[in-house]
Order: sequence, then C-alpha cells, then structure tokens
Amino acid sequence: MTAKIIDGVALSRQIREDLGLRAQALAAQGRRPGLAVILVGDDPASAMYVRNKVKACEAHGLHSVFEKYDAGLAEADLLERIRALNADAGIHGILVQMPLPRHIDPHRVIQTIDVHKDVDGFSTLSAGELMSGLPGFRPCTPYGCMKLIESTGVDIRGKHAVVIGRSNTVGKPMALLLLQASATVTVCHSATPDLGLHTRQADILVAAVGRRHTVTREMVKPGAVVIDVGINRNEEGKLQGDVDLDGVREVAGWITPVPGGVGPMTITMLLVNTVEAAERSLLHT
Ligand code: NAP
Repeated sequence: MTAKIIDGVALSRQIREDLGLRAQALAAQGRRPGLAVILVGDDPASAMYVRNKVKACEAHGLHSVFEKYDAGLAEADLLERIRALNADAGIHGILVQMPLPRHIDPHRVIQTIDVHKDVDGFSTLSAGELMSGLPGFRPCTPYGCMKLIESTGVDIRGKHAVVIGRSNTVGKPMALLLLQASATVTVCHSATPDLGLHTRQADILVAAVGRRHTVTREMVKPGAVVIDVGINRNEEGKLQGDVDLDGVREVAGWITPVPGGVGPMTITMLLVNTVEAAERSLLHT
C-alpha cells in the first residue's frame, strides 16, 4: 500500500478562503479581526514564526499589531502591555511568542491574557474548557491536526488513536480532542517501554516528539492515518518530521508530509481562532 498524502498546504488554502470571507463580513460590521503578536528577544526561529503569523493576517484581511521588545524587557512591563491589549477593543487575539527570556515566567504571562483573547489556547482556563468539553480556543497545532484527520474522511469515532508526546501545547490537547471525537486514546511518552507495541495498534497515529525516525515502517498498522507534528533537521539541515516518511508511506493509508503537513495548518488555526474571537466579541456587545 502507498499512503495518500494529506496536503496541509491545500487544506490551509481552502480554510483560509472561507476565513477571508468571514473577516470581510466582520469588517463590514466594524469588527475587523485583530491579532496582537508580541516577541521578546532575538531568537531567529521565533522571529520567523512571528513574521509568518503577521504576514498571514495581512493576506487574509485581519488587522495585526506586532510588538517587538528586547530581551531585557521586565516581566512587569510585559504584563502591563498585555493588560492594555486585553482592554483594546480592536484586538481580538493576543499571542506571546514562546520561548520567553528566562527571567520572565511564561505561565504568568499566559494567565494574564484575557481568556476571550487567548487564541493560542494555552491558558489553564482554555485548557479547562477543552478538558470539560466546553467551547473555547483549542491550541492551534492539535486543532490543525484534527482538521487534517477529518479531511481524510476517516470516521474518528471508535478508532484507536495513539498520540506520542504529552506536552501541554501538543500531545495532551491532541489526546483530549481525539477523545472528544470518540476515539479510544492511548498516550505514549519517553517512559513508555515499548512504543511499537502501542503504535502498531493505532488506526490514527500522531507523533509529537521532536526526534527523527521515532516512527518507522514496522511500527505502523497497515492503512493507518499518520500525522507527523515533529520538526527536526537532518545532517544536511533539511526539515524532517518524527516519522520516517519514505518507509511509513509504504504501509500507512494516509500520511502528512514534513514540510507541508501540520506546519501550515498551525498558522491557519491561529487565524481561525482570531476570527472566531472577533465573531464572539459581537455577541458580548
Ligand atoms: P516537547 O514539549 O519537547 O514534548 C515532546 C514529547 O515527546 C514529550 O512528552 C516527551 O515525553 C516525548 N518523547 C520524547 N522522547 C520520546 C521517546 N523516545 N518516545 C516517546 N516519547 C518521547 O515538544 P512539543 O512542543 O510537544 O513538540 C513536539 C514536536 O512537534 C517538536 O518537534 C516541535 O518542534 C514540533 N511542533 C511542531 C509544530 C508545527 O506547527 N508543525 C507545532 C508545535 C510543535 P516526556 O513528557 O516523558 O518527556
């Protein structure tokens, strides 16, 4: 079997077209969706992620505010800036790019963002809403993974889903979203003794580890949907996921490539959350 490629670029484009229309409709009501992106320090990877987010906003009719501070910014000043953005009616989503300099507590920063503007979905309130099955903002990467899985047409209900990784931003919310969609979910992590024992049972397999070749061909059930969240570089500096794409595509039914799978969907779901925040703000006024 040769797996069908789940094209994250094409799916993103499709979702973004619809978003552009929703953003236009909101702008016509004087509620152009606005995203504030804050970057502290000079990490080049963070600067690139932030640039892509701001560019994506501009391309789809969203208003964006980009604030860059030097690495010495005091935590109190950052919190004050977030509070000002919380009170700004033209801003519907606030994103503080991680990682932050060591003297700033990321937890305190995330908790300061108004839950109605927490478009990254990282606050404990947003996590609690997800846990309780309440509407709220879902973290963008697992939310995008769900859209990728749904795009295959495979019914998630009753399937066995295995998630490798248990981070608060990817693995755990991914497992909760799959559970909410009525999959039977197994979560694996670095203390799981025999990873293959679990992955071979997966109808849906999500790898969110950050280590190349974590998932190889013999670890995958024939026909499985395989979602590769990992971002790694090989010896030549080329981007690679956690899954051995060449080997696994011979057994899987569906697979996301890296690049071109989960990555583009993450930014798209950030735009979705921001437009949704603006739509919800209409209900509060
Ligand atoms: P993380 O916080 O480092 O979590 C990695 C997880 O993998 C941990 O739960 C860890 O287990 C588990 N793990 C490590 N080695 C393992 C092993 N040998 N077997 C099984 N599990 C193992 O990373 P993250 O933030 O979740 O991100 C994971 C990957 O996704 C990274 O490559 C990251 O760059 C990428 N990512 C991509 C996007 C995108 O848009 N494409 C977005 C976010 C993240 P323990 O908990 O036991 O340590």
